[in-house]
Amino acid sequence: MSSPWKPVLKTPAERARANLSLYAWARHDFTWEHARRDWLHGLPGGGLNIGYETVDRHLGTEHRYKTALRCLDRRGVTTELTYAELGRSTGRFANLLGRLGVRRGDRVFLLLPRGPDLYVAALGTLRFGAVLSPLFPAFGPEPVRERIDRGDGVVLVTTPELYAAKVAPVRDRLPGLRHVLVTGDDRPPAGTLSLGAMLAGADERWVVGATDPGEMALLHFTSGTTGRPKGAVHVHEAVVAHYATALYALDLHPDDVFWCTADPGWVTGTSYSIVAPLAHGLTVVVDAGEFDAQRWYRTLEQERVTVWYTAPTALRMLMRHGTTLARGHDLSALRFVASVGEPLNPEVVVWGQQALGRPVHDNWWQTETGAIMISNFAGLEIRPGSMGRPLPGVEVALLDRGEDGRARLTDGHVGVIAEPGAVGELALRPGWPSMFRGYLHEPERYARCFADGWYLSGDLARQDADGYFWFVGRGDDVIKSAGHLIGPFEVENVLMEHPTVAEAGVIGRPDPVAGEVVKAFVTLRPGVERSDDLRLELLGFARRRLGGLAPKEIVFDDHLPHTRSGKVMRRLLRARELGLPEGDLSTLESTR
Ligand code: ATP
Ligand code: MG
Repeated sequence: MSSPWKPVLKTPAERARANLSLYAWARHDFTWEHARRDWLHGLPGGGLNIGYETVDRHLGTEHRYKTALRCLDRRGVTTELTYAELGRSTGRFANLLGRLGVRRGDRVFLLLPRGPDLYVAALGTLRFGAVLSPLFPAFGPEPVRERIDRGDGVVLVTTPELYAAKVAPVRDRLPGLRHVLVTGDDRPPAGTLSLGAMLAGADERWVVGATDPGEMALLHFTSGTTGRPKGAVHVHEAVVAHYATALYALDLHPDDVFWCTADPGWVTGTSYSIVAPLAHGLTVVVDAGEFDAQRWYRTLEQERVTVWYTAPTALRMLMRHGTTLARGHDLSALRFVASVGEPLNPEVVVWGQQALGRPVHDNWWQTETGAIMISNFAGLEIRPGSMGRPLPGVEVALLDRGEDGRARLTDGHVGVIAEPGAVGELALRPGWPSMFRGYLHEPERYARCFADGWYLSGDLARQDADGYFWFVGRGDDVIKSAGHLIGPFEVENVLMEHPTVAEAGVIGRPDPVAGEVVKAFVTLRPGVERSDDLRLELLGFARRRLGGLAPKEIVFDDHLPHTRSGKVMRRLLRARELGLPEGDLSTLESTR
C-alpha cells in the first residue's frame, strides 16, 4: 500500500525544516496528481493553463509587485517588469489576438530577440489559449518559412529588422500566415501591423478561458541534430512537470535570481526561461546578448544570479578562456550551475568546481520530454560524466539493443537490462505531464518512438550500481569497431583531458577490416600551435587511456559544426567524411 502524501513537506521551506535532502524529498511519496493539486493553482472553473500558472496566479498576491523579468539588451541596458506589469501587457496581447480573429488552438509564432516583447507575446498567447511556437531569431529565411508553414502559423510577431531580413523574402510562400505584427515605434513595413499601436489600443483586463489540461499549448521544433527537425506538440498540463522539475532538479525557491541562457527557440528556453521560473514566482534574468565570456561573468556577478542554467558548449567556451577570468568575478551569490543539451564532459565539471567554485549539475531531457527527466540533485554526490538519476515520477529503463543499436523487439516485447554497466537504449514509461503528444503532421514518426509501452529516446546509456545514468551516445552516432561498440562521448572526454584540447567531435570512418575506425576532429585551445608532433602526442595520449577504442586518426578543425543550440553535429562530420549528402542543415550554426 502506498503511504499517504505528507502535507508537512509540501513546500521547500518545510522540506528544509525537516532537514531532508532534495533527493530524499523527491522520493517522498511523489505523484504527479499530488504535484498538480498541491503546487499548481488550476483555473477557478477547473482546468489548467500555462499562462494562468505563470502570470494570473501571482496577481492577487504580494508577488505582483515583485520583479518577474530583468531583461538586459545587447548594450547592457536593463528593463524590469513586475508580475503586475506582465499581467497587464499580456492581457493586452491576449485581447489583441482576439481582435485579430485568432481562435483558440491557432498557432502564434514568435521571431523575437530575448526581451520583454518576447515574454509578453509568449505569455499573452498562452493566456489567450492559442499555441505558442517561438523560433530562434538567428534562423535564415528558409528555416523560418518551413517551420511556420509546417506549424500552420496564423500570426507571427517579429521585429522590423528580422521581418526585412527573414520574413519579407518568403512571405509570399506563407499563404496561411494571416497577420504579421512588428515591434517598434516606427511605421510598420507594408503588409504588417504595428504591435505597439495595437497593444496601446487593447484592454489590459483578460480572463483566462476554460482550458483543458490536454489542450495543445506549445509547438517546439527539435534541434535537428540527427535529421529534419520534428515539431513536438506539448499541452497545458506540461506546467506541472515544469514546476516540479524546477523544484527538484534546479532547486528553485521564490527568492532565487535565475538565469537560463537558452533561447526560447529551443525547448530549454521555453520550459526553463519562461514557464518554470515564472510559475515559481521568482526573478528571471533575460540576456539578449550572444555568448561572451566577459559579459556572462559580469551578468552573473551584477545580477547576483543564484542558479545558472546553461549548456556544455558554453561551459567549454568559458573553460577555454581560463580560470583567471572566472576568479576575477564575485560569484558568491551562485549556488550551482546546471547544464543540458549534450554530454557534459567530466573535465568541465572538475573545472567548474575549481574555477567557479561551484558544482555543475548535468541533466538529461529532450524536446519530446518537455522537462528534465534525469538530473543531478543539489546535495547529492556528483559523479563527473554522469547525467544523474531519474526525477520522481519518471520511470527510466535501458532496453536491450539489436544489430542497429536500437531497442530490440522479440514477439512485440522489449528486454529491460538490469545488469549495471551494460549499454542499452534509454527509454521512459509515458505518463509524465510534459510528455509530447505528437510530432505535428507526422503520426508515423511519432508512432516509431514507442515500443511495448515504452518511449524510446534514441539515446544510448548505461547505469552504474548506484543508479546513476551515464550517456554513451545517440543511437545514430555510436561507432561499431572490431566488435566493440564505442560511444563518441567517451572518446571526446579523454581527448578533452589533454591540456591543449578545447573541444572534440568523434565519428566512425568505414574501414574494410574493423567495420569502422574512430576518427576525431579536434579544436585546440587559443594560442596552441597545430603540429604533427602534437597530433602524434594526442593519438598516444588517447591510446594509453582508451586502448582499442582510441582514435586511429585525428585532424585539427577550428570550426566543428554545431547546431544553433550548441551541439556538435556529428552526423555532418560523418556525411562530409563519407562524401554523403549533408541532409537538413536548417539548424546549423554558420560561424563560430
Ligand atoms: P533531433 O531530435 O532533431 O535530432 P536533438 O535530439 O538534438 O535533435 P533536442 O531535443 O534539442 O534535439 O535534444 C535532445 C538530445 O540532446 C537528447 O536526446 C540527447 O541526445 C542530447 N542531450 C540532452 N541532454 C543531454 C545530456 N545531459 N547528456 C547527453 N546528451 C544530452
Ligand atoms: Mg532528438
